[in-house]
Amino acid sequence: MQFAARDRSFALFAAVHTDDPFLLDSAMRRFDEQGAAFGRAREALLGLPLTKRERALLEIQREQTRRTIPEHQRVIDLLQAGHRHEAEIVLVERAVPAQDKMILTLTALLDDAVARTKAHVEDLRRVQDPAGLFFVVLGLAGLLLTWGIFVSVSRRTEDLIRRLVGATERLRASNIDLKFQKQALDAHNIVSVTDAQGRITAVNDRFCEKSQYSRQELLGQTHRILKSGRHPPEFYEDMWRTISAGKVWHGELCNRRKDGALYWMSSTILPFLGEDGLPRRYVAVRTDITAIKEAQQVLENSQERLEQLVATRTAELAAREQVLRSLTDAAQDAVIMIDASAAVTHWNPAAERMFGYSAAEMLGKDLHMFIVPERYLAQYQAGFAHFARTGEGPAIGRTLTLRAKHRDGREFPVDISLSAVRLHGAWNAVGIVRDATDRVQTEERLRQLATTDTLTGMCNRRRFDEVLANEIQRAARYSSALSLILFDIDHFKRINDAFGHAAGDQVLVQLAVTVGKAIRSTELLARWGGEEFAILLPGSDRNAARILAEKLRLRVENQVFPDASHITCSFGVAEWVPGDRAEDLLRKADDALYRAKANGRNRVEIAPSRAEPA
Ligand code: GH3
Ligand code: MG
Ligand code: MG
Repeated sequence: MQFAARDRSFALFAAVHTDDPFLLDSAMRRFDEQGAAFGRAREALLGLPLTKRERALLEIQREQTRRTIPEHQRVIDLLQAGHRHEAEIVLVERAVPAQDKMILTLTALLDDAVARTKAHVEDLRRVQDPAGLFFVVLGLAGLLLTWGIFVSVSRRTEDLIRRLVGATERLRASNIDLKFQKQALDAHNIVSVTDAQGRITAVNDRFCEKSQYSRQELLGQTHRILKSGRHPPEFYEDMWRTISAGKVWHGELCNRRKDGALYWMSSTILPFLGEDGLPRRYVAVRTDITAIKEAQQVLENSQERLEQLVATRTAELAAREQVLRSLTDAAQDAVIMIDASAAVTHWNPAAERMFGYSAAEMLGKDLHMFIVPERYLAQYQAGFAHFARTGEGPAIGRTLTLRAKHRDGREFPVDISLSAVRLHGAWNAVGIVRDATDRVQTEERLRQLATTDTLTGMCNRRRFDEVLANEIQRAARYSSALSLILFDIDHFKRINDAFGHAAGDQVLVQLAVTVGKAIRSTELLARWGGEEFAILLPGSDRNAARILAEKLRLRVENQVFPDASHITCSFGVAEWVPGDRAEDLLRKADDALYRAKANGRNRVEIAPSRAEPA
């Protein structure tokens, strides 16, 4: 029974593992024959005197056989329907294990029979009946012969059984592997199978979920149902060329869902080839990369926008630079830029004209070495070093008038407006420089006009008042001496009357020259009024002032005036004392002058140190 059962399994295993229809047929026949042999052996066994346990084991075996039969039938049905692979799975997973259980029961039955015979021999040996022993020995010999035959047959089949068990185990393991891989594939991938014409024959759940089409809607369709329109025809042509040539195709594919939305997948299409080497079906395995693609798109878009912005800004900058360049080129003012090391980085045509150096000569050179007069150089360089560190300086953000040097060595005044510009982390200075020669000259002329008497060229009363106020402050601060002389031409009306007004003017001019020559550079002569003059003497006390006044009186008295022969002057001298204001000092000198007139003219009178009460 055991042999028949095992052989039945071998026959079925052989049937499952052959493509040859003849071998299949013979295996099926062997399967049927062993089935009949098994049935007969069982009938014979039931006819023997059996113990209760043996009968129970046979009952278990009958039940196990009953369960095995439908499994065998399923294998046979699947084989006949041509589903060899499915038949193999049912055989390995269900039929063989069921059969194994039944064979184990039969082995237990056999072990039981052997144990029972051994016990019987022991009983007989104990009663020492030689005849009986002879028969028992004969019977035992027969049984051992049968056992020997069983063992030898068993040994022969043992190898086959081992191979069968090994193959079964391997099959089971690879089956588990395959199942696991399929599960993993299904869980993480979008899988579809198409026939050679590209018609969908199978899709997994994730495919349906992603595409939003039901399996029924997809089966029989081609993948054109999902076409997004995002790929050119050449893309699909290339794909078909690759897979129909039996090669694997990899690529990123954009599909359209049922609701119209697009989704991206990384796809691998594997062709499965028939015996003729042509693809029979295609399996496409895909992963969703929509999120990656969207992120990529966002990145590309923002990069594109950024590039556009950069292009726009660059164009704007170029345009601005052009405008700036034409402005500075056309400017009358020099526009000069220097970097943190005082090297010239911009030098416009006006700068060329103003300083006599061309841009080619100046670019990269130290500005100060070229245009700053030597006596200011150290001061400029120290100031600029501070600016280069801090971006600050007394000249920044203001317009200053400074002395500059032309290439030919000539110095001239410039008005310079400086601003700080931070470029690449370093302080640069931009200067707009205007030649101030004309302005300074004009101002000087205006200042002279405002402070000088036009007839005599001496300083006028306005200027004299300013200097007087300053000198009083200085005398007060340093407790230094300060004196004032006022003098007036005697009987000038008569000069005018006698020689004419123009001659009178000439007398005034000549008198100013005479007095101007006689005083020190620190002393100031001013035309105070018509034919009245004032001299301010810083550092001179009343005595020194009196001596000077006397000297002047004599010199005038002795001078010949070509247009008016001789003239004389009267002098009033006063010394400033602490507490005197300008008007106090003036009144004291005026009082003294009045007295000189009153006392006969052509004389010097000195004011008392304190002003007479008015
Ligand atoms: P005294 O000795 O008292 O000073 O007599 P005086 O004639 O000088 O008298 P007074 O000071 O009153 O007269 C000043 C005269 O000086 C009046 C005016 O005609 C004359 N005078 C004033 N300014 C000028 C001037 O700019 N040019 C000329 N030619 N004459 C002037
Ligand atoms: Mg006079
Ligand atoms: Mg007068």
